[in-house]
Amino acid sequence: MIKEVDYIIVGLGLSGIAFVEQLVENNKSFVVFENNSQVSSVVAGGVYNPVILKRFTPVWDGHEQLLKAIPFYKKLEKKLNLPLDYSFTTKKVFTSIGDENNWFIASDKPMLSHYMNPKIQKEKIDGVIGDFGFGVLTGTGRVDTPLLVTAYKEYCISQGNLIEEAFNYVDLILDEGSVHYKNVSAKKIVFSEGFGLKKNPFFNYLPLNGTKGETITIHAPELKIDFLLKGSVFVMPLGEDNYKVGATFNWTDKTSIPTEEGKKELEDKLQKLISVPYTVIEQAAGIRPTVKDRRPLVGVHPKHAQLAVLNGLGTRGVMVAPTVAESLFNHLEKGEKLDKEIDIKRFID
Ligand SMILES: Cc1cc2nc3c(=O)[nH]c(=O)nc-3n(C[C@H](O)[C@H](O)[C@H](O)COP(=O)(O)OP(=O)(O)OC[C@H]3O[C@@H](n4cnc5c(N)ncnc54)[C@H](O)[C@@H]3O)c2cc1C
Repeated sequence: MIKEVDYIIVGLGLSGIAFVEQLVENNKSFVVFENNSQVSSVVAGGVYNPVILKRFTPVWDGHEQLLKAIPFYKKLEKKLNLPLDYSFTTKKVFTSIGDENNWFIASDKPMLSHYMNPKIQKEKIDGVIGDFGFGVLTGTGRVDTPLLVTAYKEYCISQGNLIEEAFNYVDLILDEGSVHYKNVSAKKIVFSEGFGLKKNPFFNYLPLNGTKGETITIHAPELKIDFLLKGSVFVMPLGEDNYKVGATFNWTDKTSIPTEEGKKELEDKLQKLISVPYTVIEQAAGIRPTVKDRRPLVGVHPKHAQLAVLNGLGTRGVMVAPTVAESLFNHLEKGEKLDKEIDIKRFID
């Protein structure tokens, strides 16, 4: 029997979840294909922070994205009946007197002043190495993305919307204004496969580079911090004296396999940040869907309007996903124009 739906979605990471939420809110029917071939959303730190701490500059559109993202995850907390959003402060470790001065200047700038506290923290922190003080950021936090992905899958299964298998592109049949795949017919299909896009013959012309990232989780009972510590890596509290430490950036290895080099790099950097003992209890790796121009990949196929893409969430999927999913939905359903900066048209014009 043919199942007729409004949408087929391929991929249920942060981008797929954010788009499915649009569909649910607008009473659209759908099925999702998911085969666990990519794990970016599952291994992500889940941190949200609209300030680039290397340069003390704003993240592109970060403040606006966050205004949408926080209510989005709060709504999901209620829907899934789970704690997902943990707000905390972030403390940037200064490495020179210059850092202090640059922080002070930046903290007075329009968007940055919402988050950067102009008062520098001079007091030392037990177990933390830092002779030049700390810059304190408020309004930051993390979303428990592994829990979200698992719970959202279960939610889709309970609604009969999830097909746990690989979407096989050669079996997709395009019709006038619709698509057919095996026993499913849909008006449109949205591809949100993260780095899996590389195997998608309709959209693999897009310049998705992919950047591998690795993290370790440590158990450090003497490190009593309830904020995110940011040096050349971040140390993020998970509770029960566990902390996630990340992340590496590797532009050549395109596998999601954790490596010894990754672990060593993280531990070397960690040992310059904390002075207390720890044990590594977990390691994880994934490919961030990063794009040449560091902007999301959103829009419809140049020849087939029933094929759409939602990808390129890069290093900040948590903040950007709700905004770009809404933009794509409004584009597909209401004909609203996409922001030029995210529209994939920028790569064919
Ligand atoms: C180590 C690391 C740390 C990170 N830390 C942060 C952070 O702190 N904060 C932050 O905001 N972002 C972070 N990110 C980035 C963030 O993870 C990504 O921006 C985001 O998760 C991308 O979501 P996505 O849904 O586009 O892709 P993915 O999470 O990769 O999801 C794509 C999904 O599509 C599925 N799929 C692919 N192909 C097929 C197919 N043919 N058939 C069926 N299913 C398919 C995959 O299995 C996968 O589940 C981090 C990433 C990494 C790797």
